[in-house]
Formats: sequence, structure tokens, C-alpha cells
Amino acid sequence: MPRARTVAVVGAGAAGLVAARELLREGHAVTVFERSARIGGTWAYDPRSDPDPLGPEPAAPGAVHGSLYASLRTNLPRELMGFSGFALAGRVFAGDPRTFPGHREVLAFLHAFAVESGVDGRVRLRSEVVRVGPLDGQGERWTVAWRVEAGEVVEEVFDAVVVCNGHCTVPQVPKLRGICNWQGKQMHSHNYRTPEPFQDQVVVVVGLGASGVDIAREISNVAKEVHIASRYTEDRLGKVDIYQNVWLHSEVDYIQDDGQVRFSEGSAVAADTILYCTGYHYHFPFLDVEGLTVDDNRVGPLYKHVFPPKHAPNLSFVGLPNKTIIFQSFELESRWVARALSGRAALLSEEAMAATVQEDYRRMEAAGKPKRHTHALMPDWVEYMDWLAAQAGEPPMEARRRELYEKALRCIWSLDDSYRDSWEEENRRI
Ligand code: FAD
Repeated sequence: MPRARTVAVVGAGAAGLVAARELLREGHAVTVFERSARIGGTWAYDPRSDPDPLGPEPAAPGAVHGSLYASLRTNLPRELMGFSGFALAGRVFAGDPRTFPGHREVLAFLHAFAVESGVDGRVRLRSEVVRVGPLDGQGERWTVAWRVEAGEVVEEVFDAVVVCNGHCTVPQVPKLRGICNWQGKQMHSHNYRTPEPFQDQVVVVVGLGASGVDIAREISNVAKEVHIASRYTEDRLGKVDIYQNVWLHSEVDYIQDDGQVRFSEGSAVAADTILYCTGYHYHFPFLDVEGLTVDDNRVGPLYKHVFPPKHAPNLSFVGLPNKTIIFQSFELESRWVARALSGRAALLSEEAMAATVQEDYRRMEAAGKPKRHTHALMPDWVEYMDWLAAQAGEPPMEARRRELYEKALRCIWSLDDSYRDSWEEENRRI
């Protein structure tokens, strides 16, 4: 007979919503705590940005959570952004039928998902979790303290906690050598909303991930010049053919004494703004759990990115991995957590999980993968997804999904935005 547990979920973004659905399906009693006044997390576009764009300290409570820009369209096709039994493909939720829809469409999809799955009735809005800790040291039960709107802090005890607080809020900013010589403006993509402030500027965009590519492209419509710096450009340095005013460089080497930005390949530019599209830090200000750390952006020790061995299955994290089909990994992780809590998925012993984690770290090191990329699943993303699927009692990933995802990645890297609109035609062949 599966065990039903009381479970607190922290955060009502895509991860928290699907975690709650899977927990409910497994028969658990679920309460979702959401700090903001609405569900949807990242996908609830917020036109505000943080006042101190490059504050070295993590964002203060109440700072802007979202990092979406006004024009944002998904970088994955609809087909890869739904949940099982509730697809984003084949339906229109907010009047945007495009294969790569804008953020409003995804937000409306998440709302509809929450309603249909019954999760919306489990969400406590304006309830910021301020502390999560084991009640008894053993982690058999967990105290969750949250601040209600009036400011009062209330505590409640649960059997388990699933952490889904989102990981695209606290900017990660590289310390550039010679930055003391920089007189211009700096900002992080967390605070980028629209291109207008960059009119006629020379802009250095640091980083060539999905946001870096999108933002560089958008800014190039108004800026004088856009220079993208990345360590992944070695084979295609120089002007980008399809744009009048975009150049690819290797990494920023240092800021010269005269304030110019110098790149590793030897060129330098006098720029107005450095725009960091360099990702985010994991941040869990509310966790009061001994032995669980964030070290150089590695959250650990975590068994398969989900369970701290000492507290499994009662404490878990859904949504840490990136470089994968994100919504699908949320769902598979959630299903595994729900089944581990009910006793339908067996976990290894604490010692065996801890040993596996250490072995995974050793393998990453041997492969030359930096610690800060611990949760970036490339190149083994399918292996991870299939492993999760097996825990959740699901078949391995279909070849078509894998091909679509890998194709989307290649398109992002091509710097050519036309893939979003030409996709439909080309993918009839896959
Ligand atoms: P979030 O959506 O950030 O939700 C976390 C929630 O937790 C928030 O609502 C927050 O208010 C709440 N919260 C935080 N702390 C607390 C607390 N202490 N107490 C209570 N509540 C709390 N993914 C894709 O699949 N496709 C894309 O095209 C795509 N584009 C992206 C573009 C950008 C610019 C960014 C930043 C991300 C993009 N992503 C994309 C990744 C995106 O982050 C995930 O798709 C996903 O929506 C993240 O969901 P989440 O639930 O983990 O986090």
C-alpha cells in the first residue's frame, strides 16, 4: 500500500506545478508556497528590473525574480515544452499559435495546467518560505516557516519538502581582469528587458548561451556595433555574415588601461556597455540543512541532482539540471520524488547514494568538466533522462524528441533567428 505524505513544495513555477501534480497523483497531501502574487514563475514577465544590476550579493528578498525580456519567444518548440497528458503543442492558450510562442502563451499554458490538474487549489500565493529545516535532526519531519503578506512568520510541519524555487534570478558575473579601468555601463541579462537603451551604442555581450544569442541579435537592430565574447567561438571569429554589425570574439581577456575591452584573440574595442549573459547562481537562502552546500555553483551532495543522501526522500530538489528538455526533466524528477515518497520507487541506502555522488564527481573531474557545470547535463543528457524515466516507470526517450532538441540547440548556436519561423517546414522530415 503506497504511503501518503504531507508535502510542502517551494515555488509555483513550472517545476513546482508539475511536482505538485505528480505528488497529488501519487496520493500525497500537497501545499505549494509561492512568494509572488501569481503562479508561473519565470514565465510571468516582469517589466521591472533590479535597481543594482551588478550587485555582488545575491538578490535581496523582494527583488525581481524574473529574467525574461519583453520580446522573448521560447527557444524550444512547443512539442518539447508540454507535460504528459497536457501538451502545449496542438492547442493555443493565449492567442499565440506559433511553434516557438512568446512568453504569454507559456504562462497561459501553465495556468491552464494548474487548473486542470487541481494544483491551483493547493497554492498559497504571497507566501515566502523563509526557513526549511529538519524538525528532529534526522529529517523524518520538516519545519517550513513562511512569511504571510502582513509580514508575520508562520510555521508548519510536513513529512517532506520539494524545493522548486527557480534558478534564473541571481546573476553570475565573471570578474574581468582590469574591470577597475571600466568607465562604461555594465549589466546582466537578468535586467535586460528591451533594446531601446542600447540605441547607437557599441555593446560587448559576454556569453553565447540562448539569452546571449537572442539579446545580441535584438540589440543589433538599434546598436552601432555588437561584439559577442565567448570561449566557444574559436572556429568562427570575425564578422557574422548575416548581420551588418555583429562580431564574434573569443573570451574577454582583460580591460585595458585605456578602458577598451580586449579579447583573447588580440583585438580590442571601445564599448559603451558590457552586457553579461553569463548565467545564474543557485541560491537557497531559506534552507537550514547541515552539510548541504552550494560550492562553485555545485549544489551538493545530491544524488542524481535530486536527493541529498542524508535526507532522501524527504528533502528533494526539482529543476536543477539544465542543458536538457527542461519541462520533461521537471516532470520525470517529480514523478521519481513522488514515488520515492510513497515507497513505490526504491532508493539506494544513504551510503550507496553518497558513494554514487562522489563517483559522479570523480567522473566529471576526469572528463575535465568544471565543478560549476555540475548540473549542466551535456553530453550525457539522454542517459540522465532515461535513467529518471526508469525510476518513474516510464519508457526511454523517443528518438524524435532527442533529435528535435539537438536540432534546436544547433539552431540557437547558428545565431540566425529565422529558425523559429522556418522550423515547421523543415521538421516534416524528422
Ligand atoms: P521559476 O519559473 O523561476 O519558478 C520558481 C518560483 O519559485 C517562482 O514563482 C518564485 O517566485 C518562487 N519562489 C522562489 N523563492 C521562493 C520562496 N522562498 N518561497 C516561495 N516561493 C519562492 N526553458 C524552456 O524550456 N524553454 C525556453 O524557451 C526557456 N527560455 C528561457 C528564457 C530565459 C530568459 C530564462 C531565464 C529561462 C528560460 N527557460 C526556458 C528556463 C526556465 O527557467 C524554465 O523553463 C522554467 O520555467 C523554470 O521553472 P522553475 O519552476 O524551476 O523556476
